[in-house]
Amino acid sequence: MAFTGRQLAMVINLDKCLGCHTCTVACKNLWTNRKGREYMYWNNVESKPGPGYPRNWEGMGGGFDSYGNVQYGTLPTRDDYGRDPDYDYQGGLFEGGGIVDANPQPTWLSNWDEDVGEGTFPNNYYMYIPRLCNHCTNPACLAACPRNAIYKREEDGIVLVDQDRCRGYRYCVRACPYKKVMYNAFTKQSEKCIFCYPRIEKGEPNACAKQCPGRIRQVGFLDDTSADVYKLVVQHQVAMPLHPEYGTGPNVYYIPPFSGASQVDEQGRPLNVDRIPMAFLRSLFGDDVDGVIATLRAERDTVSSGGSSEILELLNSNNRYSL
Ligand code: SF4
Ligand code: SF4
Ligand code: SF4
Repeated sequence: MAFTGRQLAMVINLDKCLGCHTCTVACKNLWTNRKGREYMYWNNVESKPGPGYPRNWEGMGGGFDSYGNVQYGTLPTRDDYGRDPDYDYQGGLFEGGGIVDANPQPTWLSNWDEDVGEGTFPNNYYMYIPRLCNHCTNPACLAACPRNAIYKREEDGIVLVDQDRCRGYRYCVRACPYKKVMYNAFTKQSEKCIFCYPRIEKGEPNACAKQCPGRIRQVGFLDDTSADVYKLVVQHQVAMPLHPEYGTGPNVYYIPPFSGASQVDEQGRPLNVDRIPMAFLRSLFGDDVDGVIATLRAERDTVSSGGSSEILELLNSNNRYSL
């Protein structure tokens, strides 16, 4: 049944993401610091190109096919999320040893590939993508659950797992193409980002948005014509969902990186060729990203030559939450 309620959305400006992980830590401290959640990052920040978290999630399937049938993708293994080694703080910090006390040494962890990216120096490149549950308009996790344990709230579109109904079958984990439902082996139930609904209900923005030192996240209702989110997503159409081809209708939107450096020649002179290839951005956001980047650059040029731009003012707004 099509969703008819109100929808909260988040816009994340990738042009300004610092890759500082403050958002991840804010979420971790608030929601996933309990037993069974040690490996969970409801919010994570990954370097792209790269395998991300869980490892190679984009190749695991899920979402909907062109007929609207839910697809059951691959279940990530526990190792795909990375296993933290034991940290020897005493030896590492005070006795001149290594900080990781593990044998064998780990070969994979969350953010193992941080800042690696692709390409050859001096034209190698990467970008950061913060990721959380998209609170999709058509959630594959919800469609896949045989227990009807996942529901979408009419008042704000937040997608939640009813812990009283969940039996830990993990169809949701397989069906979410973003791999943003996670299994708690201690409680034997599935869990996910709750869009900080207890904060939202008090008019407070999500912890990951509030704590962001880059101030790159905006939150609001998509039908609130006064909200920055409405203006960026609906009015100006410069904020884009990640992997729209998965068919779930994500409600986390991204401003694609438009100020990236140019490639340079052997003497370091700019070549007027995008450092981050457009083909790569198309693989993330679809073909419309060309037009969006062209619009954003035109707005930037307007401001550079003394004009004004509502879009750039929105992206630098101090009034980022409309709750
Ligand atoms: Fe469900 Fe995944 Fe969409 Fe979140 S991102 S609502 S977990 S399908
Ligand atoms: Fe975590 Fe809240 Fe951000 Fe979701 S909205 S990732 S629960 S901090
Ligand atoms: Fe990017 Fe903000 Fe998260 Fe830092 S806190 S990684 S700037 S989204």
